[in-house]
Amino acid sequence: MVETDRLDLDFLLRDSIDNNFRGFSIHYQPQIRTNSRTLYGAEALARWSCWKYGEVCPDEFIPLLEENGKIVALEKWIFREAANQCRKWRQMLPDFRMSVNFSCRYLEQTDMGLFAQTTLARLGLPSESMILELTESWPMHNGQAKEETVLGLQKTGMKLAMDDFGSGYSSLLSLQKFPFHLVKIDKDFVKSATRKDGQAAFVPSLTQLCHSLGRQVCLEGVETQEEYEAVRQLGIEVMQGFYFGRPVPPEEFEKLYL
Ligand code: C2E
Ligand code: CA
Ligand code: CA
Repeated sequence: MVETDRLDLDFLLRDSIDNNFRGFSIHYQPQIRTNSRTLYGAEALARWSCWKYGEVCPDEFIPLLEENGKIVALEKWIFREAANQCRKWRQMLPDFRMSVNFSCRYLEQTDMGLFAQTTLARLGLPSESMILELTESWPMHNGQAKEETVLGLQKTGMKLAMDDFGSGYSSLLSLQKFPFHLVKIDKDFVKSATRKDGQAAFVPSLTQLCHSLGRQVCLEGVETQEEYEAVRQLGIEVMQGFYFGRPVPPEEFEKLYL
């Protein structure tokens, strides 16, 4: 992105957020239990449509929001909306779980734990119905404080998931150090599962490592039947990917999966 586009997008993003999240919406992608092929829950994913550029991809607007600090406001909005949706869907499927992404950049300076707890209490929603997905590359940046923040989040009773496991340089240390309930193996590894060489060892080995540490596993990015067949016998608890369903608006999610 050239600098002028970045500045322009940055302005438009702030403007959207300051105007009651105009243009933002949330899509939900199904997460499936491997054994029973039943619905485990959904991941809430931010979408932004802007009057000037149309649909802008999250990989473009999330980093901008992380830089300008507006990510905190957006994530509170997403958490509130997704929790509301979760309450509704739990009436149809009582053990439904909603996953939301938490950017860790401002975690220490903000009150996300308290905010989440208050929101859930107001909705009468049990905390274990929400999963917070944290990316694994950040926690090493400044040791102790982050550790306390993560433990604080865990104390709320919400489940923690380590997102994109294997993609960052400190994956293994983070896995060792933090109390993740679920580990989401990065989607780039699925492709290797169908190969006929040594690369095929990645998904089984990472799964085994997580299981030996008592963590559950979610495999992301399963796109084809062939990939699913290659990994279905590994004891992976949950799967997510285009093979099971793409992220869709809530009305469509309800029609398709509930
Ligand atoms: P993520 O958290 O790893 O989310 C999964 C991404 O993988 C989503 O992309 C999803 O559409 C995509 N995906 C799911 N299944 C497949 C598949 O089978 N194949 C392929 N190729 N892709 C698949 P999306 O929605 O474009 O989001 C991209 C990233 O933006 C997310 O990656 C997450 O890091 C970030 N993001 C989205 N919403 C939020 C949010 O509310 N807060 C924060 N902090 N980050 C968010
Ligand atoms: Ca995620
Ligand atoms: Ca991910």
